[in-house]
Amino acid sequence: MNCHICHKPLTGKYYFDSWDNKICESHINNDAVLCSSCNGFTKKDIVLPDDRVLCNVCMSIAIKPGDSIEAVKRSVINALSKVGFDDLRIEDISIEIVSAQKLAEIRKSPVNLQNKGLTLSTTTTSFGFLSGKNQQFKHTIYMLTHLTKIEFAGTLAHEMLHAWQTQNGIEMSPKLTEGLCNMGAYLMYNTLASSLTRIYLKSLHESPDPIYGDGFREVYAQFEELGWSELIRKVREKKLV
Ligand SMILES: [Zn+2]
Ligand SMILES: [Zn+2]
Repeated sequence: MNCHICHKPLTGKYYFDSWDNKICESHINNDAVLCSSCNGFTKKDIVLPDDRVLCNVCMSIAIKPGDSIEAVKRSVINALSKVGFDDLRIEDISIEIVSAQKLAEIRKSPVNLQNKGLTLSTTTTSFGFLSGKNQQFKHTIYMLTHLTKIEFAGTLAHEMLHAWQTQNGIEMSPKLTEGLCNMGAYLMYNTLASSLTRIYLKSLHESPDPIYGDGFREVYAQFEELGWSELIRKVREKKLV
């Protein structure tokens, strides 16, 4: 058995992470940290400007500004539409990949690495609203840079469900709003084949956040009872409480 950090045989006391990587005790509080994305032990090789540390594996699949996101965008739209979010107006949504700093500026709040995406919606016509037609919206989804492809997909699905709710005039409590959006992330982590999904699903289910975590658990409980189509019907009929 060799150490994941120095590759020397393990002797004496050792530590292991949620991937069962084992490391010598001497690396703890020293040159080993947990990867910000997969929670595995890694050397402090790649430190991002926002202080996140990525292991080599997560870095190799991290999405950065300028990377093509067509494939991941397509997989998110397909998965959402397959379960019943089939009226997402994708042509009204644009996606930008930005730094944590930029995301904080747009949000007008301090940098918070738990915020991995943000959707801003603007109305393009108030005339449509007045004449009783559906209001038209344009949405810009800002995505935090250097998310793994998998977490990017989950976060994008979350944000797209914000756009979907806005577009459909659905107004729920912050808890139910974020809880439903997190169901989008849940869907992607159950759709994509990757060893990372286990880690992201665990953090969805176990998040202590009173809005995101409790909201997800509430909506998930209803989903378990109703399934996707009934859940979505309830949301559309503004009966999800
Ligand atoms: Zn990693
Ligand atoms: Zn949200």
